[in-house]
Amino acid sequence: MKDLKPVIGLEIHLQLNTQSKLFCNCPTQPGRLAWVKELLEKKGLEFEYLEHGLCLTCFDSARERNLSPEQIVKALVFASDGKPIIFLLPGDRRLDLKKAKEFLKSENLRPATPEEVLEFTGCIVGAVPPTIDGIKKIIDEKLLKNEKVSFNAGNHYSGIIISAREFLKSLDSFEKVDISSEEKLKEKFTENKSEKAPAIEDLPNSRTCPTCLGMPGSKPVLNEKAVEMGLKVALGLNCKINEEFYFSRKTYFYPDLAKNFQISQYEIPLGVGGELLLKNGKKIRIRRAHLEEDPAALVHEGGLHESNYCLIDYNRSGIPLLEIVTEPDLETPQEAREFLDALLNLLNYLEVFELGKNVLKVDTNVSIQGFERVEVKNVTGFKAVEDALKFEIERQKELIAEGKRQARETRGFEEASGKTKSLRIKETEEDYGYIFEPDLTKIAISKEKIAEIKQQLPELPEQKAKRLMKDFKLSEYDARVLASDFEIGKLFDQASKKIEARLAARFLTRELLAVLNYDRLSLKDSGISAEKIIQLLELLQEKKITEKAAKEALIKMAREKISPLEFLQKAGLTEKAGEEEIERACEQVIAQNPKAAQDFKKGEEKAFNFLLGQVVRRFKGKAEPRFVQKILERKLKK
Ligand SMILES: [Zn+2]
Repeated sequence: MKDLKPVIGLEIHLQLNTQSKLFCNCPTQPGRLAWVKELLEKKGLEFEYLEHGLCLTCFDSARERNLSPEQIVKALVFASDGKPIIFLLPGDRRLDLKKAKEFLKSENLRPATPEEVLEFTGCIVGAVPPTIDGIKKIIDEKLLKNEKVSFNAGNHYSGIIISAREFLKSLDSFEKVDISSEEKLKEKFTENKSEKAPAIEDLPNSRTCPTCLGMPGSKPVLNEKAVEMGLKVALGLNCKINEEFYFSRKTYFYPDLAKNFQISQYEIPLGVGGELLLKNGKKIRIRRAHLEEDPAALVHEGGLHESNYCLIDYNRSGIPLLEIVTEPDLETPQEAREFLDALLNLLNYLEVFELGKNVLKVDTNVSIQGFERVEVKNVTGFKAVEDALKFEIERQKELIAEGKRQARETRGFEEASGKTKSLRIKETEEDYGYIFEPDLTKIAISKEKIAEIKQQLPELPEQKAKRLMKDFKLSEYDARVLASDFEIGKLFDQASKKIEARLAARFLTRELLAVLNYDRLSLKDSGISAEKIIQLLELLQEKKITEKAAKEALIKMAREKISPLEFLQKAGLTEKAGEEEIERACEQVIAQNPKAAQDFKKGEEKAFNFLLGQVVRRFKGKAEPRFVQKILERKLKK
């Protein structure tokens, strides 16, 4: 029997990280726009950013962020003579209006109306962050008694955790006064929860308009930002860009696209004929990259099979998707996974996609060479793609072994059972009845515009790997590993300014990746800041700790969220005391072994190694031998 060789192609649909939809101005996210986070980053402050479930009270926020209510900064917007004032109080205190009026010498101080809050701050009531520039801010003294505080990042779903000192730095101006009530507020569980409805933009079908609801007569207007992002990806994949491209209507008779068609690209897409390299250097050809709109979300309350009805949330309808289609160049499920990793890395470099916030779905085409092809649709998650392919290849091989024919069909993947199931006999492209979209006639992009976008592309993984090899003389392996993870590559760039590059590369590619891979964490999710890793590398470089201790510290930093210095203290090796302790140990060992010390003075190498061993043993691997060696030599030569 001839060799049964799998042939795999992928179709990836990824949501582009735009602020508005593809053909209308509706926002793509419920106020999760991270402008507060970006503002703090721009100011160069150190803080933690956290996304979480809906929080409507300070008590909710405290729970979600694992803090106490007095640490939550309550930003109350007031008006006095038509001018806004923001009061910043601990979450468990009320504003003492009498004190506030006295301080401001204002009789007509009053809470701003919801409309005024929006006008003054651009935020909805309850989601105002303290960091609004250009407004008078008054901070209650009690708030600053906390070492750490936390506030809303401009919406009900995310927060900033920051030290009180950095917090003050985040404000363009402030005055510090005692303006809060003496008694503490208690959480009222009956506190009109139903009255405090979520902000309008958080509700289903709120981020919609006639266009994305498919109303007759509404017309699509192309979002240029989405086109630019799509172009960046296409260029990053080395695609040829079509200077003229078209949109088409694809027949789609399901309620999640109210128009009964999906606007997509068919005849002439954004880009064609690209490639992406796998880790081992294998080239995977890209057939095309095109833009299309995301359908709405179907909501089956209680589960697909249990629910008697289906709800539709059009908030998702019209979010820009980029579809990337590969040639069937992939040969194993493992390669498919590596391709997705490489693609995600490229997207991170290009900053057009944020995992967790934007969704990426994969359709796979898989066949055994010479036999009919099967499409497995809508697989979410890279591991699921690998599992679905593994199952499907085995299934097809068995069919062939039994002498049965594989029909051309579309299958679905059930993650729980790890099996694929037939959904329908596959449509051919003709079944979709594509026609040109008459409301979006020919889109033309000038050569200059393409050149401009190309020029603005950041350094991409391939280029980065080459630069690291050239500038730092790193091995190709280290350079490629560093470039294949955007976050770790960035960390290396920062570290190499202070740390010997090869030491940093070795530690990051081996120890750090081992710890992250073991816990299946990304650097971002691990919560270890770049600063702390660099601190650790400095200790290692100065030989204040051994590699073994550094690795141990790293594990503790990831799991127990401690800093390198805390680790040293716990291990009984404070940064400075480390040296003193070693000195003391050297003196003791010399005193206890006078003969060996004398032998050394006579020039016996062995005696020195014996003494060194004695000292090093006392520190159970926590002291760097070369550092001990230096101190011991110094002591012996005295
Ligand atoms: Zn819309």
